[in-house]
Amino acid sequence: MTFEKILLRNVEIPNSEKIDVYLKRGGYQALRKALHEHTPDELVEMVKASGLRGRGGAGFPAGLKWSFMPKAADVTKYVCVNTDEGEPGTFKDRLLVERDPHSIIEGVAIAAYAVGAHRAFVYIRGEFFTGVKRWMKAIDDAYARGFLGANILGSGFDLDLSVHRGAGAYICGEETAMLESLEGKRGEPRLKPPYPAQVGLYARPTLVHNVETLACVPHIVLRGPEWFASIGTEDSTGPKIFCVSGDVNRPGNYELPLGTPLREIIYEHAGGIKEGRQLKAVIPGGASTPMLTAEHLDVPMAFETLHAIGTMLGTGGITVMDERVCIVSAALRLTRFFAHESCGKCTPCRVGTQRLVDTLQRIEDGRGQQGDIERLLSLCDGIAGHTFCPMGDAAVNPTLSSIKHFRHEYEVHIERHRCPMSS
Ligand code: SF4
Repeated sequence: MTFEKILLRNVEIPNSEKIDVYLKRGGYQALRKALHEHTPDELVEMVKASGLRGRGGAGFPAGLKWSFMPKAADVTKYVCVNTDEGEPGTFKDRLLVERDPHSIIEGVAIAAYAVGAHRAFVYIRGEFFTGVKRWMKAIDDAYARGFLGANILGSGFDLDLSVHRGAGAYICGEETAMLESLEGKRGEPRLKPPYPAQVGLYARPTLVHNVETLACVPHIVLRGPEWFASIGTEDSTGPKIFCVSGDVNRPGNYELPLGTPLREIIYEHAGGIKEGRQLKAVIPGGASTPMLTAEHLDVPMAFETLHAIGTMLGTGGITVMDERVCIVSAALRLTRFFAHESCGKCTPCRVGTQRLVDTLQRIEDGRGQQGDIERLLSLCDGIAGHTFCPMGDAAVNPTLSSIKHFRHEYEVHIERHRCPMSS
C-alpha cells in the first residue's frame, strides 16, 4: 500500500533542515493560521478532536494533556520537547530532528500558544551531535525570521526556545526524570501524581511532548482534525513512523497509517526477512514492549489492537528476529540494557534486573539449573508493579514474553547444558 507521506514528507529533500527549504514547502503556515485565526481554546479542541495520541510510548491523548494545563494567564507555564530518544530499536525522532527541525519548532510554537506558555525547552539526548547542531541552527533561524521571540508574526504572542543536552541516560526519556535533569539535578523519576501539567519544570505547569507528537500538530491545524482522524483506526488516529530493524532486507523508517498490519510493514515495506528465512520473534514497539511471534503478524499496529494481545505500540520501533536467533540470548541482551540503565533509585529495579541478567547468562552459558525458569518468573513478579517508575515493568518484558512464547527453548538450554542455537 502506498501512503502520502506527512511527517516524513520533507526528509529526503536536499537541505530539508534549512529554513528556506521549509518555507518553500509551506512551512510555518500552520503557525500563522493558529496565531491569527484561532484562539488557544480552539486549538486545544482541535487537537482533542483529531484523536492525536502521544508518540513517545505511552499513547496518552495529546488534546487531553493540553486541556490539563491551567488556563490562568498569570501562571508561568512551560513546554518541553522530549528529544531523548533512547529506546533500543527506535530512531524516528532523530531523523525528524536532523532532517526537519522546523516542523517540530512549528509544533512547539502552536502548542505553547494553545496552553499559554512563553518559554519552551528542548531536551535532547547528548549523543545526538548532529541533532543538537541542527536544533540550534533551526532555532536561530526561526528567531531571525520572527517565528520565535517577541510578538511572533505580529500576533502579540512571545515564545523563547532553547536547547539542553542530556548526558545519555535512558531514564531521562521518562518525562519527570527529564524535568529533574533539565533542572540540573540527577536524572531520576519523580513520584506521580502530581503530573507535569500541574507540577512540572521548576514546579510550574509543564506540557511535555515527544518530537513526533509535536510534528503532527502543524498538519492538524492546516488540514483539520477530521482529516487527521480519518487516518488510522478509531482509537489510534493519524500517521505513525515505524522504525524497522533487525533481520529484514530494508531496515528504516516507514510512515504509514496507524493500524497497518505488522505483516505488511515487515514483508512489503521492509522487504521481508533476509535470505528468505522464517520470522521467529518480533518486538513491536521498542525494547520495552513484549515480543510477539509469527502467529501475530496480522495484528494491526495500533494502540488498542496490540494491547489486546498483551503487548504495546510503544514507540513503533519494530525489531525483527529470524529463525537463527537464540531467544535466551536476545532476552539476556535486552535485559542487560535495562539493568545498565536502571537509575538505581529503587531496589527491585536496581537489584532485580541484575539478578535477571545473572540467571539468563547462566542459562545461555549452559550452566542453567532445574527451577531457573520459575526463578526468572519469580524475579519478574518481584519487579513488575513494585518499582518507582514504569521502567521496572518494562525491564521484565523481554524475559516474560520470551518465556511465554519460547519456554521450550529455555528448557532445551537447561537440559542440554548449552545453547542449542550455537554450532
Ligand atoms: Fe530508577 Fe528503575 Fe526505580 Fe525507575 S524503576 S526509579 S529506573 S530504579
